[in-house]
Amino acid sequence: MADTDAIRVLNDKCTGCTLCLKLCPFGAIAMEENKAVIDLTKCTMCGACVEACKFEAIVMRKKEEKKVDFSQHKDVWVFAEQKKSQVQSISFELLGKGRELADKLGVDLCAVLLGDKIEGKCEELIARGADKVYLVDSPKLHAYQDEPYTKVLVELVTKYKPEVVLCGATVIGRSLISRVAVKIRAGLTADCTGLDIDLDERLLLQTRPAFGGNIMATIISPNTRPQMATVRHKVMTEAEPDGKRKGEIIKEEFPEDIYTSRSTLIDIVEEIESTINIAEADVIVSGGRGLGTKENFDIIRELALSLGGAVGASRSAVDADWIPYSHQVGQTGKTVCPKLYIACGISGQIQHLIGMKSSDVIVAINKDPEAPIFGVATYGIVDDLFKVVPKLTQHFKDILGK
Ligand code: FAD
Repeated sequence: MADTDAIRVLNDKCTGCTLCLKLCPFGAIAMEENKAVIDLTKCTMCGACVEACKFEAIVMRKKEEKKVDFSQHKDVWVFAEQKKSQVQSISFELLGKGRELADKLGVDLCAVLLGDKIEGKCEELIARGADKVYLVDSPKLHAYQDEPYTKVLVELVTKYKPEVVLCGATVIGRSLISRVAVKIRAGLTADCTGLDIDLDERLLLQTRPAFGGNIMATIISPNTRPQMATVRHKVMTEAEPDGKRKGEIIKEEFPEDIYTSRSTLIDIVEEIESTINIAEADVIVSGGRGLGTKENFDIIRELALSLGGAVGASRSAVDADWIPYSHQVGQTGKTVCPKLYIACGISGQIQHLIGMKSSDVIVAINKDPEAPIFGVATYGIVDDLFKVVPKLTQHFKDILGK
C-alpha cells in the first residue's frame, strides 16, 4: 500500500502554477480546484516536483537512513571459472588483484570452485594466492548452466557472508554473477578495469569506463554486502604460482534439488573461427574498416597465420559482418594484452583503444598520418595496408616458415 504521508501538497502554499504537473516524469500530478494533487499509485518519489516548486508547497518525508550492520561480512572471494575442468586464466588475474585487496582489508582471500571431479584444481588456486577454497564437486556441475551454478553460489554467499565477490567479465561470469546479485539484492559493478579499497569505510572502489569510454567512473556499493564486481580479462596481472603456499579446502554438499534447471544443456559447440582465442593470444593481427570488404579480411588472416597469431577486428568490421563478434577488440568486445598487436586500417577510436592499448608492442598501419591509433602505437607505418600487409606476410613466411 502507498505511504500516503511520504509526499504531500501543502494547499495553503500551492498557487496552482502547474509547474510540478509539467515536470513530473511519471504523469502523477493533476490539478483539482487549482491545487496540485499527487496520484500515489503513479508517484515514484523521485522528488522532481519538490525541487521544481518555487513555493515550497510540496514536501517529501526523507527516508530514514538505516545503518546496516555489515560486521558479519568478511573475506574477499574470487569465483574461479573453469571450462572442461581447466581453471581459466581470468581466475588467476582475479586472485592477483584479490590478494592485494584482501591484504588491505586484513582478511582472507577465498576462491570458489564449482565443477565435476575438480578437487585436484584447488591446490592450483591456493598456489596462486587463495587462503581458502570453497569447493562444490558434483557431476551436475560438469558444464556451466545458469540455474544450478547461481543457486549454489547464492547458498555459499548467504552462508559464509563475504565482504567482496569478484568474477570475470566473461560470458559465464557476466551471466552468473548478475543472477546472484539479483537474488541476494547486492550491488554489482560490471566490467571493471580497476579495483581498490577505501579502508576508512571498507568500500570496494570499482572503476570502469563510462559514457562511451570518455570518462572513468569509480563506483561504490555502500548499502549492500557483498560488494560485487566483474573484471575484464587481461586487465589485471595474473598471480604467480607459489607451490609452497598452504591453504584450506572447504567442501560443500547440497541436496539434489539445488541442481535442477529449467533449461537442458544439449551440446557445447566451439566456434570454428575462434580456434585461437584473441584474449589468450600472444600475437594479434586486427583489421578495421580500412579493409573495405569481407574478402579483403583474408590478408589479415594470412598475416596472422604467418606469425602464429590470432585475428582481431574493430567493431566497424564486425558490424559490417566481415568477421564474427568473438574477434572484436574494444569496449564492447574483448580486452586483449598480447606481446604484439598489429592494427591494420583501424583509426583508433577510444572504444577500440580501451581494449588493446596495454599490448606490449603495437604496430599501426594506416594511410592517414593523423589517425589516433598512432598515438598509442610503438611503430607506425603510414601507407596503404594493401601494399604493406602482403609484404609483411611474405617476409614472416620466409623467416618463420609458417
Ligand atoms: P574507421 O574509424 O572508419 O577507420 C578506418 C581507418 O582505416 C581510417 O583511419 C582510415 O584512414 C584507414 N584506412 C582506410 N583505407 C586504408 C588503406 N587502404 N590502408 C591503410 N589505412 C586505411 N569499436 C571497436 O573497435 N571496438 C569496440 O568494442 C567498440 N565499442 C563501442 C562502444 C560504443 C558505446 C560506441 C559508441 C562505439 C564503439 N566502437 C567500438 C566503435 C568505435 O567508436 C569506432 O567507430 C570503430 O572502432 C571504428 O572502427 P575502424 O577503426 O575500423 O573504422
